[in-house]
Amino acid sequence: MGQYYQKILTQRFSPLLNSCGIGNLTKSIYAGKGQILILHRVVPKMSGERIHNHLSLEISPEHLERIFVYFERKNSDFIDLDTLPTWLETNRRTKKKFVIFTFDDGYKDNLQFAYPVFKKHNIPFTIYITSSIPDGRAIIWWYILEDLILKYDRIQYSFSVGSINAKCLTHRAKERTFTHIRKLITMLNSMNLEKELADFFSRFGYNVLDHRAEMGLTWDEIAVLAKDPIVTIGAHTLNHYNLRNLTEKQSLYEIMESKKILEKNLNIKVNHFSYPFGKYTSREIDFVKQSNFLTATTTENANVFYKHLNHPYTLPRITINTLTSEDVLNLHVNGFYPAILNKFRRVVH
Ligand SMILES: [Zn+2]
Repeated sequence: MGQYYQKILTQRFSPLLNSCGIGNLTKSIYAGKGQILILHRVVPKMSGERIHNHLSLEISPEHLERIFVYFERKNSDFIDLDTLPTWLETNRRTKKKFVIFTFDDGYKDNLQFAYPVFKKHNIPFTIYITSSIPDGRAIIWWYILEDLILKYDRIQYSFSVGSINAKCLTHRAKERTFTHIRKLITMLNSMNLEKELADFFSRFGYNVLDHRAEMGLTWDEIAVLAKDPIVTIGAHTLNHYNLRNLTEKQSLYEIMESKKILEKNLNIKVNHFSYPFGKYTSREIDFVKQSNFLTATTTENANVFYKHLNHPYTLPRITINTLTSEDVLNLHVNGFYPAILNKFRRVVH
């Protein structure tokens, strides 16, 4: 079953699970002290056909506000990553809960649509920037891929790591093909990535180089955000490669340099990091430590516990997107989904 259909099932069954009070069973063990949320883009609802797997990167401004209201009603503390260690120490034995909002990559809409909503509610948030985006070098291929798949009924191509030969006549087949190609691309060697992407997309009439820097924040825009105390700027590597595919030297460079570039260009201290695609090994954890980051976040779907103070470089995050209804959120917050997804492991790191 594709990720998308799993998510739809989750959404369908959540009201039922919620109403039978299943979250009350997991709450005392799996709810933890709070959540770090992961978002990517805040955009008004787009019309037309979309690859749904992809929609998991998006949420509308109105929906984001409903998420704020949810946590306000729960009386959660809206904090930032700098405050997290002290907050956990102070609230170890209190009933208080926290929530932290984070964004990955550095999309333009984070300034255009997300920032005004956070500002209105005076809620802090972090944006982890991949520096090739403001540098204007990044190829945000996942959006070009969505366009391509929606347009073509048949996709046949051989990447160096594997081939695809798919008929995409139905929407379901398009979803499957998107997931398959996305997986192949994340397996490509970073040294040939740009060339392989250019070759693949040119076969279907796209010049990926023309799409560079579209959708991404510029350095000036990031500087505007960085000046506001409610915004924390974090690092998300130089090139958004899957770090596990890199040599030791390349991986360290991607992590360490991304901190230096952000600090130099914005004249700020950068203390927080997130792993691209959520992929890392113990090697990357060491590199993040060596680079003097204070925290690093993953995409493991779990809540944060006091014990995470011992694991600051593998802090889990809950995904928030178009499909996050209040019922779904509730089942995350009270630990039901984290328990199931992590095979009943409690402190995920
Ligand atoms: Zn990312």
